Amino acid sequence: MVADCIFCSIVAGEIPADVVATTETAVAFRDLHPQAPLHVLVIPRTHVANAAELADREPETVAELVRVARQVTGDAGHDSYRMVLNTGEEAGQSVFHAHLHVLAGRVQAWPPG
Ligand code: AMP
Repeated sequence: MVADCIFCSIVAGEIPADVVATTETAVAFRDLHPQAPLHVLVIPRTHVANAAELADREPETVAELVRVARQVTGDAGHDSYRMVLNTGEEAGQSVFHAHLHVLAGRVQAWPPG
């Protein structure tokens, strides 16, 4: 756990979150500012800055994030969904604890903004 990391605090149960799924290595909770009817963040319990670092350190957990995304969307009745891994400030990353955005429940434009 890293001090001052909001997602580490959620993993530790120190701050509230609307948790929708947990596994040994991942936690999924609703985004505070949803961009789709279903907008969930799936994060590793381990603190790493982004998905590429997670792939280096815990490649199996990257797969776990994707499995949890499939589970959460399936449980909500969606078979179509978008997964986003913002990496770096210019790409829109604002929280530097790796997280997979999972969005579903509306038609989504391509290319993204
Ligand atoms: P990103 O901009 O890709 O780093 O995404 C960070 C996301 O975390 C944003 O969509 C925020 O709305 C979301 N977020 C920040 N703090 C919280 C929180 N305490 N609970 C749930 N979602 C959060």
